[in-house]
Amino acid sequence: MRSPATLSDIVTSFLDVVHDRLLADRRGDVADYIPELADAEPDRFGLALCGLNGRVYESGDTGVEFTIQSVSKAFVYSLALDDNGLNAVHTRVGAEPSGEAFNSVKLESSTGRPPNPMVNAGAIVTTALVNGADPEHRFERILDRLSAFAGRDLTVDESVFASERTSGDRNRALAYLMRSAGSLIAGVDETLDVYFRQCSVLVTSRDLAVMGATLANGGVNPLTGRRVTSAETCQHVMTIMATCGMYDYAGEWLLRAGLPAKSGVAGGLVAASPGEFGLGLYSPRLDHSGASVRAVVAAQQLAKRFGLHILHRPLTLSAAEVAAAADELDEGLGASQDAAAAQLLAENADDLAVWRLRGYIDFDGAERLLLDLDDWLESRPPERIAPAVIVLDLTEVTQLQSVAVWMLAALASWCGERGMRVIASDPQGRSLGVAGLSQFADFETAVQDAAESTTGDD
Ligand code: GLN
Repeated sequence: MRSPATLSDIVTSFLDVVHDRLLADRRGDVADYIPELADAEPDRFGLALCGLNGRVYESGDTGVEFTIQSVSKAFVYSLALDDNGLNAVHTRVGAEPSGEAFNSVKLESSTGRPPNPMVNAGAIVTTALVNGADPEHRFERILDRLSAFAGRDLTVDESVFASERTSGDRNRALAYLMRSAGSLIAGVDETLDVYFRQCSVLVTSRDLAVMGATLANGGVNPLTGRRVTSAETCQHVMTIMATCGMYDYAGEWLLRAGLPAKSGVAGGLVAASPGEFGLGLYSPRLDHSGASVRAVVAAQQLAKRFGLHILHRPLTLSAAEVAAAADELDEGLGASQDAAAAQLLAENADDLAVWRLRGYIDFDGAERLLLDLDDWLESRPPERIAPAVIVLDLTEVTQLQSVAVWMLAALASWCGERGMRVIASDPQGRSLGVAGLSQFADFETAVQDAAESTTGDD
């Protein structure tokens, strides 16, 4: 990890950890159904985060331009909403996750509506709903809206546009189907020209971070200070992104990342953490749902580590985080990140447990720790003679309630009676005054001490 030059560079170093670790991930394939996209440099990887104060943190290829593709759908939806209102838009396009691929041919049987504005069929309708005297004017308004979200004047990649226009038979078929069903009223060719052009707008992952931050900020671009749309529209857009933005991966995405997001087949991904920041990611190799493999993994790691799940927030006031640290040490994402500790833990897995506590530890947090440790002790091989050693990393604990201190004391004496040790690491040096609990300021020393008191592989 590069050493941070300023305090806020700590955020950049964090992105660097995620970025650098994922460089080795070469799963997936670059999209080639639009011939021009096949020329993308597959190893490109950019990761950017824009805070609501307008500071952008960047790691990797964040200045590389690529076509926005389906990421545009979320932002054009905001324009259709502002032009027509929520009800008028949704008489023409549904708001239900389709559970199918982005280009699926599936319309609601009773109304002929496409399932939602994030799949191609729904996005084609949304594009047609943007006000404008003619297709040129409509596209001009779309480009202005995308540019306002990004905070700079965006341009179109004409060769990608031409390539998609000549190879876009499936989208053309969808548009004809919707015209016959009555959900698309405008002409097919003029609508698709605008849609293909909107997909061919060039952005960087830095732009996507700013666009996401503008949504997260209730419609005011944190770089320019300009209001792009209303807070209400942002809420609608982020709702549809959360439920439908990742197509047939939308449910699992929400489960694992818990953030409104939108993917595009050039490898871009935008995610918004409401009231916190926007994320922009880019890497061209795609998974089966047409989303960037690295972008998906990176966003999920960040969301998990920052505790960003939109349904997590109401709990953070009271709930602590209590977790076995093995995975996290491996990922290198904790405040006490230490390859040496990961190694010792791996070598002594049967005898040594490292648990990491975070936040405000009350009864609930301490109880979870006890239950987790019960499970771990239960899982030890029964023939094991060496006593178990438990390391509790308190580095990121903000406060320990008295009941939790009492429970830790009880844990230490319970273990002591059985010949086991409990060791706490806490750089703040808060003395818990707990008999039988060894305390170290430094996490690495604590793990080393613990590893030495296990008998290793006997
Ligand atoms: N322009 C692409 C298409 O219509 C967008 C698809 C995508 O990014 N998922 O096929």
